[in-house]
Amino acid sequence: MFNALVVDKDEESGKTSAAVQQISVEDLPEAEVLVAVDYSTVNYKDGLCIGPGGGLVRNYPHVPGIDFAGTVEESSDERYKPGDKVVLTGWRVGEAHWGGYAQKARVKADWLVPLPGGLDARQAMAVGTAGLTAMLAVMALEDHGLKPGQGPVLVTGAAGGVGSVATAILANLGYEVAAVTGRPEQEAYLRDLGATQIVAREDLSEVTRKPLEGEVWAGCIDAVAGAMLGRVLKQMKYGTSVAAIGLAGGAAIEGALITPFILRGVNLLGIDSVMQPYDNRLRAWERIAKDLPMDKLEAMVQPAVLSDLPKLGSDILKGQVKGRVVVDVN
Ligand code: NDP
Repeated sequence: MFNALVVDKDEESGKTSAAVQQISVEDLPEAEVLVAVDYSTVNYKDGLCIGPGGGLVRNYPHVPGIDFAGTVEESSDERYKPGDKVVLTGWRVGEAHWGGYAQKARVKADWLVPLPGGLDARQAMAVGTAGLTAMLAVMALEDHGLKPGQGPVLVTGAAGGVGSVATAILANLGYEVAAVTGRPEQEAYLRDLGATQIVAREDLSEVTRKPLEGEVWAGCIDAVAGAMLGRVLKQMKYGTSVAAIGLAGGAAIEGALITPFILRGVNLLGIDSVMQPYDNRLRAWERIAKDLPMDKLEAMVQPAVLSDLPKLGSDILKGQVKGRVVVDVN
C-alpha cells in the first residue's frame, strides 16, 4: 500500500473532495511502466483537477498530478528498465489517466522522457509543465527570429509558474525582460529572476478600440490572454511574435483587431505542451538543462507534501501561487 491524493465525487450532491488515502499497485491503471514517484508539482490544471475538475477529469475516484519525476520500477517496454530516471508531463495524465500525486504511477512508455542530464528529479519538477511550456515558448520565439538586442521581451503573469521560468530563461539568454504582474510585492522576486522592467497589470488591463499603439515589445510570452493579449498585440514591434501559452485572465482575446497582423506582420504563436511530439520535448528539456540557471530555479521553489495539495490547488486557481511548487510525495 502507498499514499495517494484521491479525489472522489459524491454522486448525489455532485461535489468532489480530495484526501490522502492508501491505495495499492492493483488500483493503478494498466500501462507498460510502473514508476516510483519522487516529486510532483502544482500547475493551474492541477488546481482544476484537485477541485471539481473543470471538465478535465473523466472518472472518479481520480488521482491528479499532471507532472511527475521518479524511477522506473517495472517496465514491459524495451525503452525503459528498472532504475531509469524519468520525467512525465502532459498527455492528459492527471486528467484522463491517474497522475503523479501518489508514491507510484503506471503510465505508457510513450509518455515518458528520460530525465535530462544535469537535472535531478526535484529540479525537473521545479520545472514541470510550466517550465517546459516556458521553454517551448522561448524556442518558438527564437524560431521566428527573436534575438537579444532587439528590445524588451514582455512576460505576462510573470510571478506565476510559466512566467517565472520564462523570465529566468530569457534573462539568462541575454534578453531584456519586462515582467507584467498584478502583485507589486513580487517586484524584488522578479528582478532577482532577471527582469529589468516591471509593468503593472492595470497598465495592460483596459480594453481599447485603438487599431494600434506605439511599438514597444520585441517579443512576448503571454500566460494571461483576455484584455491583456488584445493590448499587447497592438504594442508589438514590426514583424515580431507573441507566444500564447495560457488563459489566466480569460479565454477570449478582448479588444483584438486584425491591424497588428496585417499592418505590422505580428505573429501569434500557439504553444501546447500536452501533445508536444517526443523529439521537441527532448529538445526543450535539453535546452532547460542548459539555459535555465539552477540558482534561479531554486529561488522559485516552494516545497510541499501531498496533504498540502487541496489548499495549493485552490490557491493556484486564484493566481496566488508564486513561482513553482515542488511536491515531495514521499
Ligand atoms: P500560475 O497561476 O502559476 O500563473 C498565472 C499568473 O497569471 C498568476 O500568477 C498571475 O501572475 C497572472 N494572473 C492570474 N490571474 C490573472 C488575471 N485575472 N489577470 C491577469 N493576470 C492574471 O499558472 P501557470 O503559470 O502554471 O499557468 C499559466 C497559464 O498557462 C494558465 O492559464 C495555464 O492553464 C496555462 N498553461 C498552458 C500550458 C500549455 O501547454 N499551453 C501549459 C501550462 C500552463 P501575477 O500575479 O504576476 O500577475
